[in-house]
Amino acid sequence: MVSGARWLQRGWVSWWRAVDALVFPWECLVCGTEADVSPFCGDCRRELLEASGMSCRRCAMPLGPWSDRSGGCFECRGRSLGFDGAIALGPYEGPIRDLCLRLKHERNAWIAPWLAELLVEARAEVRLGPEEACVVPVPLHWRRQWSRGYNQAEALARGLADRLSLRLVRPLRRVTRTPPLARLGRTERANLLRGAFRAERSPALRGRTVLLVDDILTTGATCGAAARELKRAGAKRVVVVVVGRAGGKA
Ligand SMILES: [Zn+2]
Ligand SMILES: [Zn+2]
Repeated sequence: MVSGARWLQRGWVSWWRAVDALVFPWECLVCGTEADVSPFCGDCRRELLEASGMSCRRCAMPLGPWSDRSGGCFECRGRSLGFDGAIALGPYEGPIRDLCLRLKHERNAWIAPWLAELLVEARAEVRLGPEEACVVPVPLHWRRQWSRGYNQAEALARGLADRLSLRLVRPLRRVTRTPPLARLGRTERANLLRGAFRAERSPALRGRTVLLVDDILTTGATCGAAARELKRAGAKRVVVVVVGRAGGKA
């Protein structure tokens, strides 16, 4: 039983929080200071946008200004990735890493549209006409989806589709469960993921560019396997779109 005094106190606290949210609608997700129109203050927003920097068009690896980028970068040149291009908000470090970690929890799903908005602003190349492109999230295995009840890639994909006025399509299914991939190398990941996805043939894919959305790109094995399957189902090109590009080789 909640005592009368406790109840009153709780009522007071929640009322105060509601007023607080009205007067100070945003607190910056990065530094905690007051923010005006989005959950990023001006400084942190600028920093996040600048973090995008130069990167490889094929695998989104961050690159220095003098890097040779013909046919990809030193990491991906001459290798078949399964996808045709990759776009990341920025390297998986600092605030971008922190935001990706938060997004893994369903209670923070509301961050996804704001990250999509930042990504579109930082990376103009993600803009494609609705007649050319659709957005597809990298799915979880149904058992994992069922136990977690949430997939951050799906939340991001929805945010991106809304932002770009593109259609969100879900033709992919993950048919095999894979163990955590974090400690595995590129070849081991690729072997485990072979045949991990199935895509339904869909008119929404035929002849189009697919923006394949995930939160983090590490070795590229997951997105590569999904992209190959999307192409088998009719997609013309697959461009991977992620928030963080981790240092692992593509
Ligand atoms: Zn801030
Ligand atoms: Zn590259």
